[in-house]
Amino acid sequence: MDFELTEDQRAFANTARQFAQTALAPHAANWDAEAIFPREAIAQAGELGFCGLYAPENAGGLALPRLDATLIFEEMAAVDPSTTAFITIHNMATWMLGTWATDVVRAEWGEALTSGQKLASYALTEPGAGSDAASLKTRAELVGHEYVINGAKAFISGAGSTDVLVLMARTGEAASGSAGISAFAVPANLPGISYGKKEEKMGWNSQPTRVINFDNVRIPSNHLLGHEGEGFKIAMKGLDGGRINIATCSVGAAQGALTQAQQYMQERKQFGKAIASFQALQFKLADMATELVAARQMVRLAASKLDAGAPDASTYCAMAKRFATDTGFMVCNEALQLHGGYGYLRDFPLERLVRDARVHQILEGTNEIMRVIIARRMLEGDAPEAIR
Ligand SMILES: Cc1cc2nc3c(=O)[nH]c(=O)nc-3n(C[C@H](O)[C@H](O)[C@H](O)COP(=O)(O)OP(=O)(O)OC[C@H]3O[C@@H](n4cnc5c(N)ncnc54)[C@H](O)[C@@H]3O)c2cc1C
Repeated sequence: MDFELTEDQRAFANTARQFAQTALAPHAANWDAEAIFPREAIAQAGELGFCGLYAPENAGGLALPRLDATLIFEEMAAVDPSTTAFITIHNMATWMLGTWATDVVRAEWGEALTSGQKLASYALTEPGAGSDAASLKTRAELVGHEYVINGAKAFISGAGSTDVLVLMARTGEAASGSAGISAFAVPANLPGISYGKKEEKMGWNSQPTRVINFDNVRIPSNHLLGHEGEGFKIAMKGLDGGRINIATCSVGAAQGALTQAQQYMQERKQFGKAIASFQALQFKLADMATELVAARQMVRLAASKLDAGAPDASTYCAMAKRFATDTGFMVCNEALQLHGGYGYLRDFPLERLVRDARVHQILEGTNEIMRVIIARRMLEGDAPEAIR
């Protein structure tokens, strides 16, 4: 077992750090305050390969291990979790399209997406189907050589500003549950697609979130990803990696917040000395660093399991997502506390990091659903799986 990064991995992280410092850090506060979607910066990330990090090579992707992708996302999230999280969702949807699309659809979208020239959204959640995603109602009816789509999706990241939707819709009967769901690549501007208002959110303000309505939207049947009935499996495979990505965004945000707090504690003086000299605060800092390192290692372990195709990879992805997003939020919040009143002001990035990290405990499966997944694996079946 080797915990050291390779030379290549260090080089990826360095490139991402430089990109984060030059293309994201100077603008992140403004993108948040003005709710600006930084299309150009995302295209620049694409030029570095960051929009198709683990997408297959035949779609123009780098086909990197998930572990390597975490190193890159962590550096970017340390300065801008919101924009980075969108880039991770784009990577997830692009990987799904690159892996399961027909040759025709992959040829049409693959390189455009992996280069960041075009962007993708992941559309699973519906107004009535959140945690219970398998109860989704959006229908795709095969009529001749086309599917006709009707229904609505909610909370879709990037919606209204992306070019293609990786959409999960029901092709079987309602009673068929997850087995009746199929996945599709749907061009985002087809007749019959309409977008709701841009949601006003607590954080993640540099990316739009909208409802999407589908009213008799027609797509050629070759836009199906995989086979009919495989959609839920494909959606969950996407989310295994998505959970590692969101966990990584929390680790990155927490590292950014911790670094700020370390500096601030040395600079800020009260009672005639630097607040870093107070042992109560030193202990807080020590706990923040300890839990952050534990979260990072758990995320990397889960990523390695996914890379190795381990049978318990999904369980580890759920554990990493639960632990790293809870820890990430705690560390950001404690770093804000260490800044006193200044942490609450927009002059410092802490309040933005707290607001951005909060939603990571909710999406890509809530942290309660992560516990459902972990416990199910431990308790179901005749021979419950040991978690070691
Ligand atoms: C900013 C943002 C961006 C998002 N982006 C996307 C996106 O790009 N694509 C997409 O498809 N979705 C997206 N989502 C949706 C997100 O995945 C859902 O919000 C999430 O899965 C929870 O669903 P819900 O909001 O309907 O909550 P609900 O499912 O209604 O849950 C409400 C509460 O009940 C709890 N709960 C539910 N069931 C159980 C249970 N069995 N046991 C214990 N507790 C339970 C939940 O944990 C939660 O605390 C986004 C959400 C947000 C906020």
